[in-house]
Amino acid sequence: MGVEDKLPSGVLLTTVEGLAGYFRKASFWPATFGLACCAIEMMTSGGPKYDLGRFGMEVFRASPRQADLMIVAGRVSQKMAPVLRQIYDQMPEPKWVLAMGVCASSGGMFNNYAIVQGVDHVVPVDMYLPGCPPRPEMLIDAILKLQKQVQSTKMGPNRLAEIEERETVALNA
Ligand code: SF4
Repeated sequence: MGVEDKLPSGVLLTTVEGLAGYFRKASFWPATFGLACCAIEMMTSGGPKYDLGRFGMEVFRASPRQADLMIVAGRVSQKMAPVLRQIYDQMPEPKWVLAMGVCASSGGMFNNYAIVQGVDHVVPVDMYLPGCPPRPEMLIDAILKLQKQVQSTKMGPNRLAEIEERETVALNA
């Protein structure tokens, strides 16, 4: 009789998921991806004054294939939307998206034909951060909150089903 037969159903899987979440939350690799003025605050967050690296996420990756966090920092133009989606698709699962600032979250003051009215029309968003622009402390706070979410996120089919559901809601909005 194996260990799994002696334990209540799902205990092993739950423990492994919890352990993976614990390590994953402390090793975010954000994609290097800035769109407008909010990106200046994002870059400042990685500098010595705010030191995002304290939380295990200073390694901004130039390749989406090595990144698991997309920080959408700035307004998304209609022309940029397919590029943003392609970068998102190139990131391996599991991955998360943070909409930084009011423009990325809802279009903000750019209520016009040229700007996507919320990046959740293009990719599923895990965290919305208000502000114009949000200060580095606010970005760090949002990432810490996202870390908590990441630790408790179910992996595998559950995670994919959750993303699909959010994509359907966003595309039908
Ligand atoms: Fe620029 Fe403000 Fe929009 Fe950020 S929210 S991209 S700072 S206008």
